[in-house]
Amino acid sequence: MLEAFDRWKAREAEWGRRLFHETGRLLLAPEWNRSLETTKAALDKYRVPNERLSPDELRRRYPQMNPEGIGVALFEPTTGVLKAREGCIAVAEAFQKKGGRFRIGRATLGRRSGSRLTDVALSDGTSIAASSFVFACGPWLAKVFPDVMKGKLFTPRRDVFFFGTPPGDDRFSYPNFPNYSEDDSLGYYGFPSIDHRGFKVCPVGEKTAFDPDTDERLVSPYQVKRARDYVALRFPALKDQPVVESRVCQLEMSVDEHFIVDRHPALENVWLVGGGSGHGYKHGPVLGEYVARRVIGQDKNPELEPVFRLKAQAFPA
Ligand SMILES: Cc1cc2nc3c(=O)[nH]c(=O)nc-3n(C[C@H](O)[C@H](O)[C@H](O)COP(=O)(O)OP(=O)(O)OC[C@H]3O[C@@H](n4cnc5c(N)ncnc54)[C@H](O)[C@@H]3O)c2cc1C
Repeated sequence: MLEAFDRWKAREAEWGRRLFHETGRLLLAPEWNRSLETTKAALDKYRVPNERLSPDELRRRYPQMNPEGIGVALFEPTTGVLKAREGCIAVAEAFQKKGGRFRIGRATLGRRSGSRLTDVALSDGTSIAASSFVFACGPWLAKVFPDVMKGKLFTPRRDVFFFGTPPGDDRFSYPNFPNYSEDDSLGYYGFPSIDHRGFKVCPVGEKTAFDPDTDERLVSPYQVKRARDYVALRFPALKDQPVVESRVCQLEMSVDEHFIVDRHPALENVWLVGGGSGHGYKHGPVLGEYVARRVIGQDKNPELEPVFRLKAQAFPA
């Protein structure tokens, strides 16, 4: 993770674009618990600055937040928000500048020769031949490989809200408020308004599977109510503010929440890559290199191979 952030920062400098905002993050919990303890131990181990905050300290630093029900917080000042869409565009541009070529189309498995895939067929009727193929299809992996991936990914929906901040009130905007995450059974997280987009609130815990091709991306009244109830409690000044943007997207959870980086069991030159489990984006610069090394047979981290293997377990049907 730390390596990935270093690389994002290096790419920012190289490309002359701002992709990362160092907002900091608050983990909020009713009481100190095992999960916070584990997180703190990991942060300490890797010398990532962190601080345990009491409700009084929270009140002093963030008077715009009502700490009711919060017994403790863990603050990480150096983490932040990556702008995912801009990052993807920047990567695409850099790839093309280095001679890479994009073809946009729906790919399906093409011809085979023994245990090797010879080409992929594109939706425009053309095909692409190669010696190796990496399928990094996110939640669609299970659609491209229905047999191999059966039960290996679960794609719950997430409703995401951006609340407009009151005119002239910058208390909920970067850099005046950090990312936050409620470490309790209900679970909410979000981050400050960046580039005037609005204050993000995402209620988590939704267990409904989402089809990324056919399900409508309209937020549900239930999640609107959850987001509003939460904002009214935690950020009272935003209580009557309008939702200025909303999104519905899907996670692609693997059975053990580890990435999947493995060869197709029947096609030796086909790689399955995915299972981001809600955390795939930020690891991109490191994971990309890791996958490339595996594919060309120059793996530097053999200890990770079993971790990222496609596991035998499956989600219940
Ligand atoms: C609400 C929400 C919050 C998140 N928050 C975070 C976060 O804070 N930090 C973080 O790191 N990650 C986060 N994630 C997760 C992150 O977005 C994913 O892990 C990441 O996008 C996975 O990247 P990917 O390249 O594996 O798949 P994707 O980003 O899903 O990309 C897969 C691509 O493959 C294409 N594709 C699929 N099938 C085919 C086909 N047959 N032919 C051609 N193309 C195909 C798709 O069109 C798509 O462009 C979040 C996700 C959600 C939904």
